[in-house]
Amino acid sequence: MARYTGAVCRLCRREGQKLFLKGDRCYTDKCAVGRRQYPPGQHGQGRKKTSEYGLQLREKQKVRRYYGILEKQFESYFELANKKTGVTGENLLSILESRLDNVIYRIGFGNSRPEARQLVTHGHFTVNGKKVDIPSFLVKAGDVVSIKEKSRESNKMKGILESNASRIIPKWLDLDRNTHTAKVVALAQREDIDLPIEEHLIVELYSR
Ligand code: SF4
Repeated sequence: MARYTGAVCRLCRREGQKLFLKGDRCYTDKCAVGRRQYPPGQHGQGRKKTSEYGLQLREKQKVRRYYGILEKQFESYFELANKKTGVTGENLLSILESRLDNVIYRIGFGNSRPEARQLVTHGHFTVNGKKVDIPSFLVKAGDVVSIKEKSRESNKMKGILESNASRIIPKWLDLDRNTHTAKVVALAQREDIDLPIEEHLIVELYSR
């Protein structure tokens, strides 16, 4: 299962905004976006102009990086979104939101999407009572996501749950904090997704 393994703060600096890839650190003044407000690399402070294509490309890269997805898989999500009825850009975001690693992050079972992804691959969660260790698993309306009994007892998981005790959970997910179980009420709609994304730019990019 391929994934990006480089320095993640570089990705935020490249996109010029916080992508929240490091959990708690992202909310402190140690965040690299606040400290160095220019893209990384030798020419980072020299880049100024951006073409229309550049804007579209950056938007796509930003979304890939939010969700931690490599190019090929992102393309297949786009194809899937394009085949569905409705607005392609909105379909794309809805599909990305339904990835299991994102759901785990959204319900506060992980401090960041990368951490949620790792916890999923380590087999800490079940979907409808069965262990699922594939971060790209797409949940459906009605699915029930839960922390495995044994994993609930680990200090790491207790710490994560504690630090996310007041996290606002999107309305398409119904979390029961007592049983550490969340039901997917419905798939996420565009208005449920709070990320600053201009998805029409991605559609324009793939329409070239
Ligand atoms: Fe991005 Fe978080 Fe690093 Fe800030 S601390 S640059 S938000 S990953």
